[in-house]
Amino acid sequence: MNSQLSAVVAGAGIGGLTAAACLLQKGFKVRVYEQAEVLGEVGAGIQTSANAVKVLYALGLRDELEKFAVRPQAFEFRRFDSGEVMHRIALGEQHESAHGAPYYHLHRADLHALLARTVRELDPDCIHLNAKVESFEESADGVTLKLADGARIQGDVLIGADGIKSVIRSQILGQTPVSYTGDIAWRAVVAVERLPKNIMQRISTVWCGPKKHAVMYYLRSGSLMNFVGLVEHGQPENESWTQKRPWQELKADFEGWHPTIQTVIDAIDKDSCYRYALNNRPPVSNWSTPRATLLGDSAHPTLPYMASGAVMAIEDSAVLARCLQERTSVPEALQRYQRNRIERTARIVNESTDSRGLYRIEDEDEMRKAFEQRNLAKSRAQWLYSYDALHVPLI
Ligand SMILES: Cc1cc2nc3c(=O)[nH]c(=O)nc-3n(C[C@H](O)[C@H](O)[C@H](O)COP(=O)(O)OP(=O)(O)OC[C@H]3O[C@@H](n4cnc5c(N)ncnc54)[C@H](O)[C@@H]3O)c2cc1C
Repeated sequence: MNSQLSAVVAGAGIGGLTAAACLLQKGFKVRVYEQAEVLGEVGAGIQTSANAVKVLYALGLRDELEKFAVRPQAFEFRRFDSGEVMHRIALGEQHESAHGAPYYHLHRADLHALLARTVRELDPDCIHLNAKVESFEESADGVTLKLADGARIQGDVLIGADGIKSVIRSQILGQTPVSYTGDIAWRAVVAVERLPKNIMQRISTVWCGPKKHAVMYYLRSGSLMNFVGLVEHGQPENESWTQKRPWQELKADFEGWHPTIQTVIDAIDKDSCYRYALNNRPPVSNWSTPRATLLGDSAHPTLPYMASGAVMAIEDSAVLARCLQERTSVPEALQRYQRNRIERTARIVNESTDSRGLYRIEDEDEMRKAFEQRNLAKSRAQWLYSYDALHVPLI
């Protein structure tokens, strides 16, 4: 029986909330501590492949997700100027029948709100806001989470899901290397009514070109277009999702790119262009103590080049819940969890970092050849999308 185990979660992002829901569903007592005064997420898109959607379905979210999800037909990698398709990954029905769940484009705020509602339905007292976590202490019997207001929270296990600037990670791992990737990420969303009809099919389009690439896809039942622009910039700046920059700088960054990109950028609200510095954090080989572990970006911060950081946090949640349910002890369960997750998440971190070079090849012929050799459709189908966190045999 698992009902006696009590889990304390730091952070109520997509990772912390999914972990809380998976653990509550298995009958554990769970308390989540989130620094924000109000729960929420930024206005941006998130792509979720079958390997994550299966976990969300197991939480009973299929009908709710279908209300606002977009099911893209494909990923298309296009040349930045001519628009030539360099590579295509079929999604739609092919993805669903091969991997057992659809590929979705979701609005982050919609997914986050749905997860928060699910957690609260399972336990109305689970989420504590305005609760900044400072550190933790552990003993052979349990763990104590220390909050900035002086509160002390006891539990059997601590899950640090407090993102890229995680205090739980710092305490477990000390200082780990962080270096600027050389890229900033623009993000914006556009109301589709401001765009010409059928400007783009329901496809995730990655525009690839020298020193930058851009990603565009529909959100919220097709009513919004998500735009992300990843651009080489000499000067690192804040690693913050909420820092605005002048629209003119975004426009200048994509000068000379395909007319479709110009049309979308021209329709973006001039006061709603956000820019974010992207940092590299290499994978680590341990992220647990006997009573505390990490999950999501705190464990394996992942660059957005394969759209899989949150997907990994969702997979982590399902595997961690299984390990805790089948535990002989908490320390053994945490070791088993990381043993099952480290290699896979390190691969995502490394391949995401590596994809940047592929998308940026200057010469058109070389880019065409490189896409052919890498065959992303085949390799992602084989190892990324096919994973089933709910049933994969645990080692
Ligand atoms: C431009 C861009 C596009 C992306 N697109 C995709 C995509 O399409 N698909 C995908 O799978 N991934 C994508 N990602 C990655 C994805 O956003 C992250 O991997 C995901 O949000 C990680 O979730 P998390 O819950 O681990 O961390 P976070 O979302 O960072 O959540 C951490 C939470 O912890 C809280 N917190 C932090 N410190 C404390 C503290 N001391 N005390 C209490 N609470 C605290 C924070 O307030 C926050 O609520 C993208 C990332 C970027 C930058």
